[in-house]
Amino acid sequence: MKNQALKKYARLIVKIGINIRPNQTLVISSPVDCVDFARMIAEIAYEEGAREVVMNWHDEIISKTRFLHAPDEIFDEFPQWKRDFYMSYARQGAAFLTISASDPELMKDVDPKRIARARNASRKKLREYSERLMSNRNIWCVASVPTPAWAKKVFPDIPAEQAVEKLWKAILKSVRADLPDPVEAWNLHKAALKERVDKLNKMQLQWIHFRNKIGTDLRVELPVNHIWMGGSDESADGIDFIANMPTEEIFTSPSRKGVNGTVVSSMPLNYNGNLIEDFAFTFRDGEIIDIRAGKGYDILKHLIDTDEGSRYLGEVALVPYDSPISNMGILFYNTLFDENASCHLAIGKAYSITLQGSESMTKEELIDAGINDSLVHVDFMFGTADLEIQGLTKDGQKVTIFRNGNFAL
Ligand code: ZN
Ligand code: ZN
Repeated sequence: MKNQALKKYARLIVKIGINIRPNQTLVISSPVDCVDFARMIAEIAYEEGAREVVMNWHDEIISKTRFLHAPDEIFDEFPQWKRDFYMSYARQGAAFLTISASDPELMKDVDPKRIARARNASRKKLREYSERLMSNRNIWCVASVPTPAWAKKVFPDIPAEQAVEKLWKAILKSVRADLPDPVEAWNLHKAALKERVDKLNKMQLQWIHFRNKIGTDLRVELPVNHIWMGGSDESADGIDFIANMPTEEIFTSPSRKGVNGTVVSSMPLNYNGNLIEDFAFTFRDGEIIDIRAGKGYDILKHLIDTDEGSRYLGEVALVPYDSPISNMGILFYNTLFDENASCHLAIGKAYSITLQGSESMTKEELIDAGINDSLVHVDFMFGTADLEIQGLTKDGQKVTIFRNGNFAL
């Protein structure tokens, strides 16, 4: 991919994604494979007045080697200094950029119990940090860069080099970086999402009901005073940023105890370097009471068994079937892209910012109001071309929200 095109993308991430402020620190978590792009980001961030760009490198091959060969007790440990690393920068008001680019099946030979234990150990130690991000107290952004292993999974029939090039094209298109004026394109896109969000917020729906032919029949109640969100985010000190690039979704929180019925996945889920396929969940009063999976059942079971909250939902998101990423017809095996091509739900923690007045509520008050809490937040996709969504407004009116996979509003 031409340097010029990549610079345009890097600039978009720094200016629209992170929206870096003068004198702000930027922490970049990046795979070592993405070093060229990370360097580009760092240079632009300094140009835009960053105080310091701090790199947090990792290598997925070494992670895998560790999972295969390290002694067992390692996987319950998470060093204090790593927690201090994140928290010290978070307290200074740093922004956090994650470059997400992993081989979707990297961990298929690893004992899933080891992965689950390691994730839980890090999540427990990083709880405060991730809460700061999920409530937008710190600016954060996730964006992607192709790696050969990932590109080969997406385009298995062509040589790695061509696959990388093709994945680059798809990524740049998905974030509108292929357009002459990406910044203007993002402003229009944000305005369009906001219009939808405003419409739904006015309705204050009591519940939404999803139905399609592959077996989804799920009623999701929404908390009183819920807020739909989409497009740009706003940090606690009023800075506009984009947490996910790309983003096509509008989302809110389901009511923790108000989910009933069955949802059937419409795309594989890449979770911790493993693929879970053809899966479904059945809910009663919010709780997952049954799961099935054609592939990756154990991984899914470990995820659901993480804690109490991982048996409940934390997000409901609407994405039309006829939308830019969905229309590319590419399965990315990366949630950042796949969730923006499809209606989805998330297992686990809810974004408390989707509830009016949540800033001044305690954890218990949030749970009572229907906002779920967990160490995990994992999105899975269920949107299809025939998805129908009905809703019930605050004053008891039935409305059609989706017809044949697309907005009917
Ligand atoms: Zn989402
Ligand atoms: Zn999510």
